[in-house]
Amino acid sequence: MHAPARATRSSLQAAPLCATTSGVPRAPLKVLVADDDDGTREALVAAVRLLGHECRGACDGLEAWEMHQREHADVILSDWQMPRMGGLELCRRTRVAQAEGGYTYFIFMTGFGDKDHFLRGMEAGADDYHTKPVDLDELRARLVSAGRVVALYRELAEKNAALRRDSQASFRDARIDALTQVANRLAMDEDVRVLWSRVKRYGHRYSIAICDVDLFKAYNDHFGHLAGDDALRSVAHTIRGELREGDGLYRYGGEEFVVLLPEQSLAEAAGAMERVRAAVEKVAIPAHGGHGVLTISFGVAELDPALDGSPDDWLRRADTALYRAKSTGRNRVETDRPPAPQKLVAALSTRG
Ligand code: GH3
Ligand code: MG
Ligand code: MG
Repeated sequence: MHAPARATRSSLQAAPLCATTSGVPRAPLKVLVADDDDGTREALVAAVRLLGHECRGACDGLEAWEMHQREHADVILSDWQMPRMGGLELCRRTRVAQAEGGYTYFIFMTGFGDKDHFLRGMEAGADDYHTKPVDLDELRARLVSAGRVVALYRELAEKNAALRRDSQASFRDARIDALTQVANRLAMDEDVRVLWSRVKRYGHRYSIAICDVDLFKAYNDHFGHLAGDDALRSVAHTIRGELREGDGLYRYGGEEFVVLLPEQSLAEAAGAMERVRAAVEKVAIPAHGGHGVLTISFGVAELDPALDGSPDDWLRRADTALYRAKSTGRNRVETDRPPAPQKLVAALSTRG
């Protein structure tokens, strides 16, 4: 079983360092030799190193497994029969663990030359099966083949990672409004669906605000569409700057934005929007007509499961409040029903 490897130092000197048969050099492999016979193991380790690869030796399967856990091996050359853990178990474990690390090319180097051992070894997940004594030319050729497979797997893993990164980036881009760089309508629909199920399941409270730039058609007509785009960017930036981190800001469409305010009552949300309103006014983007500067009107509604059968019902109530803000002079915050006055005062004075 532990037939000594035929490798000798003198026969190894001539071996080209880590070269393929075509002469094209490959990256050195991290090789792990598992063999309980000291002479075989040492000869194999020396041979592999002379072929230009990194190589560690383990006295049995268990030690090899622990070493592989600590530092992933590209190739494992394993004896069949060893104390504590044999090569078959080492091979099975290596295959199961493979999903997490890169691919490990597993080669049995055994004294068992019969078909039954060969079949069991290959069925356990080995890539190759070599009968001792070890022939150096064969070892070099088998490591070349191992290097090819390991490199292919590595390339595949890198391509998969790049694809995953690309698809994550596309996912993000598809949910961002190109003009203002805030989240778009698609992101809003998804977030509302998620919060809707949360409200149903856990009874969380949410308020929503629709924010509509006042007399924006006139602004465009007077200053031009490009200036209008700049104004929208500036408005979006100002709104974002006034919100809490957990609040959601979305471009709802055209010159309209939506703010989702988690865990905020109607009075708190109205207070928050009043601060946003004042901030936009303070930026003082010169406007033609209206208040002389660009302003926003707001319609705010708190989600009420008793009133809202769907997210659309909730949005509609906020829209009705917005309509009232528009029809009563613009540049103001309206709620779909009057919040308790003392709560509104408290909300306005506690927000920082
Ligand atoms: P109100 O105060 O009643 O909301 O009046 P308004 O003029 O803002 O409302 P209206 O719906 O009549 O006009 C909205 C304007 O917003 C018209 C449209 O050209 C402009 N708008 C929508 N999207 C964009 C955009 O991406 N860029 C620019 N520059 N203008 C936009
Ligand atoms: Mg509008
Ligand atoms: Mg408008």
